[in-house]
Amino acid sequence: MSGRVHVYPLDDLIEHDTESDDCVCGPRMRPVKRDDGSIGWVITHHSLDGRELTEGEQT
Ligand SMILES: [Zn+2]
Repeated sequence: MSGRVHVYPLDDLIEHDTESDDCVCGPRMRPVKRDDGSIGWVITHHSLDGRELTEGEQT
């Protein structure tokens, strides 16, 4: 699969798995329609220390 964007907290207490959808924090996936009409996925990871999310991108 392609077109995934991971949103995860930087420097979190745990290491987030941005290679797969199977992270220990239990990320949420939601579909997003891209400019070319295709569907991509945004995987939102949860910070374990309650800080605000910082956006990071990895394809
Ligand atoms: Zn995570």
